[in-house]
Amino acid sequence: MRTPLIAGNWKMFKTVFEAVAFAKEFKSLVKDVANVDIVLAPPFTAMHPVSEALRASNVAVASQDLFWEKDGAYTGAVSPAMVREAGAEYAIVGHSERRRLFGDTDVAVNRKVRAAIDADLTPIFCVGETLDEREANATLAVLDRQLQGGLDAITGEQVAALVIAYEPVWAIGTGRVATAAQAQDAHAHIRGRLRTWFGADVADRCRILYGGSVKPDNIAELIAEADVDGALVGGASLDVRSFGEIVTNSRRAVI
Ligand code: PEP
Repeated sequence: MRTPLIAGNWKMFKTVFEAVAFAKEFKSLVKDVANVDIVLAPPFTAMHPVSEALRASNVAVASQDLFWEKDGAYTGAVSPAMVREAGAEYAIVGHSERRRLFGDTDVAVNRKVRAAIDADLTPIFCVGETLDEREANATLAVLDRQLQGGLDAITGEQVAALVIAYEPVWAIGTGRVATAAQAQDAHAHIRGRLRTWFGADVADRCRILYGGSVKPDNIAELIAEADVDGALVGGASLDVRSFGEIVTNSRRAVI
């Protein structure tokens, strides 16, 4: 049985002061939640103080991105080891905003996934189609391309341990959530590809999150789908109560 995972992506929101205040309040709100992995991805500047505030809690920290090199003349970049040292256990990689605004290609995303694994970080590897691609019936082809590129040269064991986030670009920050059936179709396709490429055991262990306008009132329906193992949450993770409710509402009846 895969443990549900709920990750909050704060994007470029929250000062250090605001982030630490959130972390302190949130950690006491979810302290009794069991059987759900909970992750927060603050901006780089707040990662270390948030990790400190969450020490000995059931909430882990993720970076929102990283660079694949270990060190060097890469102005503005942050290495996997730096992310790890700042307290992160996870790293979001290949978010559509990084792909669209910062030019991350499938090759770059693959380097980042591999670098994260090498640094003992769990990648949250994002894939998803744009509205144009969905309307052109290209969703599955886009997912195949992103998966094949992003998972190149990664072993089955590594794939089983990482997290994939299916995030249809048209649903991110738009309030237009995918239906549970649309999410399940995409997730089942992704898991099917993992089964073909890496075998049934790897496919069964890899967690696949849905991302795109997840809110407290739609998470239960999404996570009830067989292949939806949790959520990557943007806007609704910025508010302590709403993110707390998403976590609480994500507990499957069978758990
Ligand atoms: C995201 O940024 O990954 C995301 C899913 O955002 P939102 O929940 O705001 O759609």
